[in-house]
Amino acid sequence: MTTGIILAAGKGTRMGTDTPKQFLPYRDRPLVCASLSVFNESPEIDDIVLVTSEEYIDYCRAEIVGRYAFSKVRTIVAGGKERYDSVWNALRACPGADYVLIHDSARPFVTEDIIRRAAEAAKVYGAAAVGMPSKDTVKIADDEDFAASTPQRSRVWTIQTPQAFSRPLLVSANEMLMKRGQMAGVTDDAMIVETSGLAKVKLVEGSYENVKITTPEDLKRLS
Ligand code: C5P
Repeated sequence: MTTGIILAAGKGTRMGTDTPKQFLPYRDRPLVCASLSVFNESPEIDDIVLVTSEEYIDYCRAEIVGRYAFSKVRTIVAGGKERYDSVWNALRACPGADYVLIHDSARPFVTEDIIRRAAEAAKVYGAAAVGMPSKDTVKIADDEDFAASTPQRSRVWTIQTPQAFSRPLLVSANEMLMKRGQMAGVTDDAMIVETSGLAKVKLVEGSYENVKITTPEDLKRLS
C-alpha cells in the first residue's frame, strides 16, 4: 500500500499574495490540482492524503477534491506550523501505508515517470529523494556572505520532491529527531532520515523541469 502525501499547507509568504500559491490559478485550475492529478493517475499510488491549513479544508473538499473528482484522496488533514509538522500530521493519517511519497504542491511539473522512479527506489533502499545534478557551481557562504568553500560540482544535487520512504522508517526517524530536539532547520524529509542515521537516502533522477513555484513571476513565466 503506497500513499501519496500532497503538501498544500504553506502560507506562501514569499508570493506576497493573500491567497497561498497552491490555490492561485494555473492553467485554469488552482495550482495544487496539477500535482494531485498526476498522483491520482499514477498506478504506483493507492491513495492520497492532502494536507492544507485548517481554514482551507472545506474549500479543498468542495472546490478541489469534489469538483475535480480526485478519487484517490482518502482524507484531508490540517497542516502544522512548519513543513515537517504538516508531514507528521499526514503520516498519522495513513497508519496502514507501507510506503509514502511526499510531494510539494508547489511543484506542478511532476510526472508519472518521476513518481515511479521514486517509488521503486524506496522499495529497494527504504528512502529516496528525487533531484538533479547541479548545473551551477555551488558555494557555501560564511556569515558575511564570503565564499567559504566549494563542493565538487559532480557531487552536488539540487533536491526536489517527491521524496519516498518506507512509512515505518520515516515515522521512526521523525520520532528520533523530535525526542532529540533536532527538528529545527529541517527543510525536507530526506534530511530527517539522514540525520537519524537509520538509512541512507538514495538520490534518483527527477527532471530539470520539476521546479518549485516560489514567486508570482514563476507562475506567470511557467503558465
Ligand atoms: O515554503 P515552501 O515552498 O518551501 O513549501 C514547500 C511545500 O510545503 C509547499 O507545497 C507548501 O504548501 C508546503 N508546506 C506545508 N506546511 C507548512 C509549510 C509548507 O504543507 N507549514
